[in-house]
Amino acid sequence: RAKQDGRNSYAFYTESLTKESIEHLKLQSALHDALDKQNFHLVYQPKLDFVTMQTTGFEALLRWCDPVLGNVSPDKFIPIAEKIGLINEIGSWVLKEACQQGVKWISQGKTFGRIAVNVAGQQLQRTSFVDEVKLVLEETGLPASALELEVTESFMMSDPEVVIRDLQRLGEMGIELSIDDFGTGYSSLSYLKKLPIHKLKLDQSFVKDLPLDLNNSAIAKAVIALGQALNLKVIAEGVENEAQAAFLRDNGCHEAQGYLYSKPMLPEALNDFLIDRVHY
Ligand code: C2E
Ligand code: MG
Ligand code: MG
Ligand code: MG
Repeated sequence: RAKQDGRNSYAFYTESLTKESIEHLKLQSALHDALDKQNFHLVYQPKLDFVTMQTTGFEALLRWCDPVLGNVSPDKFIPIAEKIGLINEIGSWVLKEACQQGVKWISQGKTFGRIAVNVAGQQLQRTSFVDEVKLVLEETGLPASALELEVTESFMMSDPEVVIRDLQRLGEMGIELSIDDFGTGYSSLSYLKKLPIHKLKLDQSFVKDLPLDLNNSAIAKAVIALGQALNLKVIAEGVENEAQAAFLRDNGCHEAQGYLYSKPMLPEALNDFLIDRVHY
């Protein structure tokens, strides 16, 4: 379009190829190499039962350390990976790596509830996704009862019926399914009722400044009540202080995850959150 407007605006357009979009291009090409060059790794963040304070699982979170660009936040590179069609390949790597870590802990005599893996909408929309998960469980030896998948509401934007059927199959295998970032997406309550899911993850934007922020207090209570009404567990993410924790616990939230308990960490650093399996 800029070209048609004549030379001056073309120059203007070129100049407006801002720092930001150059950055974006650099990220794109570096992302293409990241898997091959083993520049990805996973960190894990514990999730705790609000009443017993026992570990209920760990969320696997992807980290990218590029030799030139340094550490790049997943909030930055995941959307790019989705845009350039790399998310499936990256997502497959994450799933396998997380399952292998689970098996490693089990072989060390540890229990941990479930390993939770984030699944992008595009992954979920692939017809082969259920088979892929099945295969990874078989190949790694992780029991389905030790896996949780976190999905966002974004998949409901197109062809939700097909995805719902796949979620059903994953649930029947014994995998736990959560809606991540709940409240920020396409939350149609009539769909929520139809979804074969087990858990809502209250988005951290609603956990911020609890209980002082009255809007967030109202939203948090409403989501917890919705969970109770639909027989879904509710977990709060981004819990950073005792005041937030007390409010959520008192209002019946089941689980918590956040810096108050632990930042996402390398598996070796999580011993305090792993439970020794008792042999009888
Ligand atoms: P998410 O799945 O909602 O993960 C929660 C994010 O909140 C993580 O950010 C975590 O480090 C951060 N967090 C946890 N507790 C606290 C807290 O108390 N305070 C604050 N301020 N933040 C907290 P992270 O690791 O940077 O990941 C950001 C997002 O990137 C994730 O949000 C998820 O949407 C995406 N992501 C990360 N790993 C993967 C992956 O393997 N696959 C896919 N598809 N997406 C991923
Ligand atoms: Mg998540
Ligand atoms: Mg989340
Ligand atoms: Mg989030």
